[in-house]
Amino acid sequence: MEYISTRGSAPRLDFEGVTLAGLAADGGLYLPGDWPRFSEAEIRALRGKPYPELAATIMRPFVKGSLTDDELDAMCAAVYGHFGHAAVTPLVQLNEQHWLLELFHGPTLAFKDVALQMLGHLFETFLARRDQKMMIVGATSGDTGSAAINAVANRDNVAIVMLHPKGRVSDVQRRQMTTVRAANVYNLAIDGSFDDAQAHVKRMFRDEDVTGTLKLGAVNSINWARLMAQVVYYFYSALQLGSPERKVAYSVPTGNFGDVFAGYVAAQMGLPIERLIVATNVNDILHRALSDGDYSAGGVTPTITPSMDIQVSSNFERLLFDCGGRNGPALAGQMEAFEASKAMRLTNEQARGASALFTSIRADQDDTARALAWAYRETAQVIDPHTGVGLHAGIEAGKTGLVGQDVPIVTLATAHPAKFPDAVERAVGVRPALPQRVGDLFGREEHFSEISGEYESVRDFVLQNAVSA
Ligand SMILES: *Cc1c(COP(=O)(O)O)cnc(C)c1O
Repeated sequence: MEYISTRGSAPRLDFEGVTLAGLAADGGLYLPGDWPRFSEAEIRALRGKPYPELAATIMRPFVKGSLTDDELDAMCAAVYGHFGHAAVTPLVQLNEQHWLLELFHGPTLAFKDVALQMLGHLFETFLARRDQKMMIVGATSGDTGSAAINAVANRDNVAIVMLHPKGRVSDVQRRQMTTVRAANVYNLAIDGSFDDAQAHVKRMFRDEDVTGTLKLGAVNSINWARLMAQVVYYFYSALQLGSPERKVAYSVPTGNFGDVFAGYVAAQMGLPIERLIVATNVNDILHRALSDGDYSAGGVTPTITPSMDIQVSSNFERLLFDCGGRNGPALAGQMEAFEASKAMRLTNEQARGASALFTSIRADQDDTARALAWAYRETAQVIDPHTGVGLHAGIEAGKTGLVGQDVPIVTLATAHPAKFPDAVERAVGVRPALPQRVGDLFGREEHFSEISGEYESVRDFVLQNAVSA
């Protein structure tokens, strides 16, 4: 499979190349040159397959030329054989129309594990093959950091330095990072905000003193391999609900537009998806873009759904490219103008293409709390606030007839409620307990270095510890 950049001028790469590159050299994001398609008969034949086997079948066309069938099968078995639920992503029925797809049975209790666990194995395999070593450097405000650390811990040829703003991530989130014992994991608590930490990371990728001696790696959701791994659970859930004979709609709590874009990919591959509902919190750039073509960044308002508190959604560029006629140079111009002014309008072609499959619904804090209370009262499910944003949007879509009554609506449950116990307790009066498998999180020893907020101290730390990378 050959991959192309959304901005048209970066070299075409194979799957191994895009996995190790992350962002394209022209500032764009990589996408497959063509969407692989499954016929109705081929989709029907996937029914009843265990998750690891289904995962290998869905990913096979995307990794062609970079992994043999045996390598891919072994990797999927290793990654998806160790989740906290035998079904990996179980589907739970709420009422006649509504379902939850539980994506939080990985090691760090959020959906990011489903893809990052795979990415850890891919890095290890590709780096060993090239006899290269890579140092992953990232900044986190919570979920991504812990999922990335757990994915990379004890993998060969790769090390990770994760920056978090000191005192500004939750206890559960910090402990999920700092209690991992592995020689290739470094946690840095820095003085400053998440944005400061993120700025250091960006600067480091442009710092030739660093890039001249180290191969830096990134794990954010612009990495194509992450999106690819997320396509699998759309197929998995739709097949259980009667696909391909029956269409299914999805409501997806959205931040960076990665998870919901994976649903778009599933639709391009032939899965009959009725509608993709982009559920946002009050940080609603995507809702404004999809409802009236206005893609303009504002400030970020902190909410009870921190993993969706974003200013811009990097993966949205992939949709604009695919819906806008795949015109790299035109999109490069549009994105450069956006980066300069922080605002742009979708073209008619982009808006029309997006509206064929996507609808957006915004949930404020009260909407979210009501969705949590409804789920608890009516279905005895304690759900996390991010899932609550999605469920609010799913219920609205059903009520208003946006999605017909005969179409199942699946809300993606992106985090375990115990990751956000305070907000859950306020909404439903119950404090969710951590699942048994992570139950001793508060008994384990923490390991992290504290470091001042200056860029130079972070850079020196990375260079000093690079030997083991
Ligand atoms: C990251 C995250 C999201 C947002 O997912 P995107 O792929 O960035 O749209 C939603 N919920 C939770 C719990 C997350 O960790």
